[in-house]
Amino acid sequence: MGNKTRVLVTGAGGFIGHHLVKRLKAEGHWVRGVDLKHPEYEDSAADDFRILDLRLWENCLAAARDIDQVYNLAADMGGIGYITAFLAEISKNNILINAHMLEASKQNDVKKFLFSSSACVYAQSKQKSAEVTPLKEEDAYPADPEPGYGWEKLFAEELCRYYYHDYKFETRIARFHNVYGPLGTYDGGREKSPAAISRKVAKATDGGEIDIWGDGDQTRSYMYVDDCVEGLIRLMASQHREALNLGTDEMVSINHLVDMICEIAGKKLTKIHDLAKPQGVRGRNSDNTLLRKILGWEPSLPLEKGLAITYKWIASEVKKKEAAKLAVAGD
Ligand code: NAD
Repeated sequence: MGNKTRVLVTGAGGFIGHHLVKRLKAEGHWVRGVDLKHPEYEDSAADDFRILDLRLWENCLAAARDIDQVYNLAADMGGIGYITAFLAEISKNNILINAHMLEASKQNDVKKFLFSSSACVYAQSKQKSAEVTPLKEEDAYPADPEPGYGWEKLFAEELCRYYYHDYKFETRIARFHNVYGPLGTYDGGREKSPAAISRKVAKATDGGEIDIWGDGDQTRSYMYVDDCVEGLIRLMASQHREALNLGTDEMVSINHLVDMICEIAGKKLTKIHDLAKPQGVRGRNSDNTLLRKILGWEPSLPLEKGLAITYKWIASEVKKKEAAKLAVAGD
């Protein structure tokens, strides 16, 4: 391992963790990846990849051994359908992962620990309009986050602060706003809106229909995964111990997102809105004032460009799967 920085990425079998490992390796670090599973679509670039359940204390202790920096991305998470369906399960799993990973990192003398939080910590009362005022970091209080996933993320943020307060243990907190890109989950129920819509568009016949959750007027902002990884590395290098937004402030409605993806695919589809499905808060956008000040940077890839790359990858995956199904049926 020599004098290289030794970095642990938890959740390295997942979407953002996998991209982060690649980038850290490209920068010459020694990287350990840990997850319940290997990455689904490509081999990990990690020097050492371990399959470990990080809800368990002994596994966290082993994962953080001989490590300088921890990016704690492991979490039980998914899109809005998933996080509104499983409140106890998600909370219990993530509380165990975060509490054990923080303590194991401290006991192993890790120098810095980055926690991946979420825009789901923001007060629901401040996100009732589609024309929402972009959320500043202080808008997480008074606390009124998303049930389950939002509450456990907000408390884990607090726990990071307490570890600095009591032990001077260095922590960083990134609040992600919807990350998308290739090599991410696009089916099975855990996928998020850009991936789910890309899959539906890829499967639809030109002139056909597409089902949309809610009336489609709900708004969000989306960050391309390479920008997310850049922001994580910059935040880790910074001196900022308080929570920081990591997202774009390019807000779009879900209906507009569907139109953009249809345009990329060259398909005309009729939207069928399913009002019985969960749609989450009505509007959410990131205020990047503090992000620009602290990191001297902000995510910049325009949504249109990032979606074009993402759609191309998902459409090719859908095609591969359909060809494999046909081959099996023809046997
Ligand atoms: P992901 O689901 O692709 O990755 C998370 C990984 O954690 C998965 O591979 C999963 O197997 C692993 N994991 C779950 N439980 C584990 C356990 N007990 N032990 C070990 N590994 C376990 O999700 P992602 O999109 O890459 O998200 C990474 C982090 O960013 C998560 O903490 C998530 O909450 C946060 N986040 C993501 C987004 C987004 O838009 N993708 C938004 C807000 C916050």
